[in-house]
Amino acid sequence: MTKARVYLSPPHLLGREREFVTEAFDTNWIAPLGPHVDAFERELAAAAGRPHAAALSSGTAALHLAARMLGIGDGDEVLVSSLTFSATVNALVYERARPVFVDATRTSWNLDPALVVGELDRLGRSGRLPKAVVTVDLYGQCADYAPIVEACGRWGVPLIEDAAEALGASYQGRPAGSFGVMAAFSFNGNKIITTSGGGMLVADDERWTKQARFLATQARDPAPHYEHSQIGFNYRMSNVAAAIGRGQLETLEQRVAARRRNFEWYVELLGDLPGIDFMPEAPYGRCTRWLTCLTIDPARFGATREDVRLALEAENIEARPVWKPMHLQPVFAGCRVIGGAVSEELFEKGLCLPSGSNLSQADVERVAGIVRACCRAVG
Ligand SMILES: *Cc1c(COP(=O)(O)O)cnc(C)c1O
Repeated sequence: MTKARVYLSPPHLLGREREFVTEAFDTNWIAPLGPHVDAFERELAAAAGRPHAAALSSGTAALHLAARMLGIGDGDEVLVSSLTFSATVNALVYERARPVFVDATRTSWNLDPALVVGELDRLGRSGRLPKAVVTVDLYGQCADYAPIVEACGRWGVPLIEDAAEALGASYQGRPAGSFGVMAAFSFNGNKIITTSGGGMLVADDERWTKQARFLATQARDPAPHYEHSQIGFNYRMSNVAAAIGRGQLETLEQRVAARRRNFEWYVELLGDLPGIDFMPEAPYGRCTRWLTCLTIDPARFGATREDVRLALEAENIEARPVWKPMHLQPVFAGCRVIGGAVSEELFEKGLCLPSGSNLSQADVERVAGIVRACCRAVG
């Protein structure tokens, strides 16, 4: 008999989601607007330390609207983290931008601030500044904002924060999502909170969120008939989805605690193995440990990351390699890249273990037991 599948990061209902959804049904607010959308925008904005938020159909939609509103267009260069999910970059390419991929640093697995600052200075001195910089808060950990924000400010280059994986994280006491002109969150089914699919754009300046809502509802000019002077999108979040999101957001701290506890369990059970290194928590903030990630050095561990992943899969356990860097993706072949060796090595050796906030200690022990059994270290 096959054992019940252990997923990487499944949805977890533990609050008032059902109550809010029932309310949406009872009041007939089954539409891409309504009281739960308004309330979810207020509540999520507060969690991100921003005054304004616009609820959208996905994190990708939030990133796309941010790119569009900043006027990113044909052939514009945008500095972006290479070690990320493709959605970060797709949103730029929808507007025909030219991504310039920047490598990660080993200390946080996030964008290497020295490379970003160096490239901005170099481009700035030669009068060819990029149109924007996009940071990604990877696996629940913020990028190192102080130097990046400083350099962007000095050169007048707008920053977009892709905080899709980092709701609940912090950097120097400020929440993920509070950096840059705009930030994007995702509520896809695998994220720390889900709406079954959804996203949010947050900003300090209300003009951005107002414009985002306008573009997300087919850019309807104020008129009794349907009047359009711009191309719009159908990117709004439904009131039913927002109801789920409100229930989820109320329990954010519990979720962060559960994911950090998973990480601690894995460290206790696997930390002594040769060749295993966990993703470091940078000293500047709190990582949510959205996913517990580690690297496996085959020379010391005696097996590769892929050996371990397949051993887990054989036991019906879902684990995933760390993101394949965007500069190695066939679809982005030919794009400029700054560095690259660090993200390449993290991809080659990196594995993400089951990390859901509803994972049991027994599940973690089972996963860890299989990883441990793969170790063929000699001596
Ligand atoms: C999930 C994710 C997105 C996209 O969010 P969707 O809601 O799935 O569109 C963007 N960037 C990163 C880094 C992500 O992990």
